[in-house]
Amino acid sequence: MSTYEVLGKWLDSLINIDITGRGVIDKLYTAAYERIGESLVYKAARELKRAVSKNDVVLIITGFRVPPLFVQETDGPLGAASIARAISICLGAKPVLLIEPVDASLKVLESVVRGVGLNVVPVEEVGVEAKYISSVTGFTMKEEEAEEQAKKLLDVLKPSAVIAIEKAGHNFKKVYHNMGGLDISKYHSKADYIVIEAQKRGVLTIGIGDGGNEVGMGLIEDAVRKFVPYGNKCRCPCNGGIAATTKTDILITATVSNWGGYALSGMLSKLCDKPEGLHNLEHEELMLLFAVQSGAVDGVTGLVERSVDGAGIEVHKSILTLIHRILRI
Ligand SMILES: [Zn+2]
Repeated sequence: MSTYEVLGKWLDSLINIDITGRGVIDKLYTAAYERIGESLVYKAARELKRAVSKNDVVLIITGFRVPPLFVQETDGPLGAASIARAISICLGAKPVLLIEPVDASLKVLESVVRGVGLNVVPVEEVGVEAKYISSVTGFTMKEEEAEEQAKKLLDVLKPSAVIAIEKAGHNFKKVYHNMGGLDISKYHSKADYIVIEAQKRGVLTIGIGDGGNEVGMGLIEDAVRKFVPYGNKCRCPCNGGIAATTKTDILITATVSNWGGYALSGMLSKLCDKPEGLHNLEHEELMLLFAVQSGAVDGVTGLVERSVDGAGIEVHKSILTLIHRILRI
């Protein structure tokens, strides 16, 4: 095994530690590893480096809103912002981040992207000759216009990669679910169509998720149906289960989706020999502070506090510290 392959395996292991004790992530990781055939993180980073050139646009899609208020959760935006930083610094590319087209979600993502160190400009200006710029924009929540809007988006921006991280994905009946097995379709972007259209055009697609109901999990839909609560049978009238059906070329599983983003950023930084591409502890604190200031909530507790998926900021700083440490070797 090459050094990179070894590092990739360690990062895979680190981000799939089951700190929640749910007993599911191990099984999802094993299924994904069997499908991909090598370290998930290393393959994703290597393919990104190969596919993306300077000044190319990379689409990064995120967004999960927590009932009953349907506010954006803290898992997703931080991982998306971390990847945006890495592709900006390591590859000189232009990240365009997509989320639900509602002010509250846009505000969370914009502030988190600033927290990781990037400028946020209107999407029309993302092509200007400047370093460290990104854009944040919305994608439709209407099923009937999603296919057309996805085509237009790809026609205009011509991305060389599309990454979906902690992005609500539809099941085979086109219904979107939360982990509790309830229908949340009305409140979420129909982002699957961006990935489907990208694949038709031969654009690299990467999915990152932690539960089985995210875009990209279609790659291991059978495992999600078998092992995830409500995976095969939801609690909504569709009766199709929460297992997301859209596949990506590469899938990264992680206990917390943000960690999948951090590991990908770290591995890309290593491949490009630009350690500063992976955000640091100060960025982590700023991102979480800005997210909370903008009204994001912990998706598990529902509280407006500096935590993600029920784990406090210390846990996420520890994981980030370990990713940095592993990659120093
Ligand atoms: Zn359902």
